Order: sequence, then C-alpha cells, then structure tokens
Amino acid sequence: MQSLVDGFGRRFHYLRLSLTEVCNFRCTYCLPDGYRKSGSMNFLTPQEAERVVRAFAGFGVGKVRLTGGEPSVRRDLSEIIARTAQVPGVGKVCITTNGWNLERQIAPWREAGLTNLNVSIDSLDRETFRQITGHDRLASVVRGLDRALALGVPTVKVNGVLLRESVDAGFDAFADFVRDRPIAVRFIELMRTGDNAEYFAAHHAPGRRLTDWLEARGWARRERAFDDGPAIEFTHPDHAGRIGLIAPYAPSFCDGCNRLRVTARGQLRLCLFGELGVDLRDLLQADATEALQARIRQALVGKPAGHRLHEADSGDTRQLAQFGG
Ligand code: SAM
Ligand code: SF4
Repeated sequence: MQSLVDGFGRRFHYLRLSLTEVCNFRCTYCLPDGYRKSGSMNFLTPQEAERVVRAFAGFGVGKVRLTGGEPSVRRDLSEIIARTAQVPGVGKVCITTNGWNLERQIAPWREAGLTNLNVSIDSLDRETFRQITGHDRLASVVRGLDRALALGVPTVKVNGVLLRESVDAGFDAFADFVRDRPIAVRFIELMRTGDNAEYFAAHHAPGRRLTDWLEARGWARRERAFDDGPAIEFTHPDHAGRIGLIAPYAPSFCDGCNRLRVTARGQLRLCLFGELGVDLRDLLQADATEALQARIRQALVGKPAGHRLHEADSGDTRQLAQFGG
C-alpha cells in the first residue's frame, strides 16, 4: 500500500471529513450571527462520504474525523459513522461536536462504531458558556459527555478555545473537571479567520498563558502518540485526566501536519487556511477509487509548507464552520 507523502516528506494518516456547513450554535468566534445559508445545501451523501473514506483508507489512513459545521444536525449521521467504521483499515472513527443533544445521540453513534468523541466546551461556567455559544446548554452537554464515558466510548476529549477571558478566569474548573474523568481537555489558541479579525484582536491569548498556569501547579508534559494531533498534553498525579494546548501560532506547528481535509461539498483542502480546494465530487458518483486516489495524490504535490496566519493571512477561510475545523 502506498502512503500519502507530500513534497516536504510529511505523511498523512488522518482525514477530517466535513459533513455540513450548517450549525445550530452561534459561537462568538465562529458564527456569531448563526449559520447563514450560502449556496446549495448539497452536502456529501452517506455513500459519497464512504467513497471518500475508502479512497483515503487505501492510502493507509486509519483515522477519520467527522466534523462540520455541526455534524449532529445530520439525521443520517449514524449511517455515516457505520459506513466509515466498516471501511477496512479504518480503526478510529471520531466526531467533533458542540454536544447538542449528545445525551440522546451518543448511544446510537457508539453502536454504529464511534471510537473517539471530541466535545467542544469553551467554559464550564454556565453563563459564560451561554454567552459564547448562544445556548444555555452546558449541563446537558456535560451529561452527554458523561454518558459517553458510561457507554465506554474509548476516547473522549474536550476542546476549548483559549480566550483572554478563560485565561483571566483561571483553569481551576477544568482541572477539577478532569480530576476523576479520564479525558483530555485541550485548549486551542483562537485563530484569526476572514470574519473574526476584530474579535481576534480583542480575545486572542497566547498559549503560554495556559502552559505557565499548568507548570506552576505541578502539571508535567506527556509523550505524544504516533497519530496524535498537534496537542501538547500535561498530566498531574492527582488528576485522572489531562489538559493540553494546541498552538497553531507556534513556530514549526505545520511541520508535523498529518491531516487532510475534505469539505462537505467534496473538495479536498490541503490546508485549513489555504486557498480554494481540489474538487473530488465528480469522482464520488460511482465507485472510482483509483481515479480518486490519483487525483488526491496529484493534489498533494501542491500542499504548502505551512499556513500564513502569522501574516494575518487566513486564506479564503471566513470561519471554521465553512470547511470543517
Ligand atoms: N461544531 C462542531 C464543534 O464546535 O465542535 C465542529 C466544528 S468546529 C468548527 C470545530 C472546532 O473548531 C471547535 O472545537 C471550535 O471551538 C473550533 N474553532 C472554531 N473556530 C475557531 C477559531 N477561530 N479558532 C480556534 N478554534 C476554533
Ligand atoms: Fe458551530 Fe462549532 Fe462554529 Fe460553534 S465552533 S458555531 S458549534 S461550527
């Protein structure tokens, strides 16, 4: 089996597949006015999604993350999870969700073959959560997460966006949250996108503020696994879980890039903050794995060395819901 390698020797064994641009939350840094329909809502069908996964699995991609927009707005999500889980070679079927109705949905997802759940929780304070997402649903999201743990979902993580106000509030609530829960909470530095420049200027906080906080309280850096994302994680002897940081502005962040993205409209995105994409949709209408793989391989030649966020260049990414964060 040939693996996917780009011009910089980076190997790709992780696919992020967006299933929709639609979202039911209004996160202040992403879709502050809520989702606004743009273009047709002609997103990948379960069969098209499966064909994408088969093509990547043929390159040794064993980890697939279903994302969006909010993937759980799709009624056929369990079917897509099941189709993904059944593709030979795919060992990890992951989802990134805002946790809406997680309590109700997690059992069928688990039954369909979900192995990794990432739930986005930016604050554990009810009012701050409501202000950020537009929904007073923190308690329900946390119940959903606990239900996932009770059901034995092998890997459960929390993603939080690192905002200036989170730094000011301190991270004690998150440290308490992982005292008995064997999960990782990873903060991601706020990224500047086409739509959020003003918000970014007012709310971005450097990741060092989190790592300083952790190190001052006895948290220690942990070794990384082969198909881990770019998070640096910290452990503490008194806590079952971990706290981590994803720092897209760190020097050499892109050197370890191991993921490719396919959008809900069937475009291959080589970089989250790149320009345009390579259309795969015409090759998803029938089983055409070889042709699809040839196009993917050819496209990879054009993968840039890294993003240009430092130069305040977000490519054509207006917000992360657009291509799958
Ligand atoms: N709706 C799902 C969710 O929120 O988990 C999946 C899609 S969302 C775009 C994926 C992740 O990107 C979320 O954890 C979200 O917090 C994060 N995100 C969105 N916009 C961001 C930004 N400008 N900077 C950093 N993270 C961002
Ligand atoms: Fe929706 Fe996720 Fe964006 Fe929040 S971060 S608005 S939940 S897509």
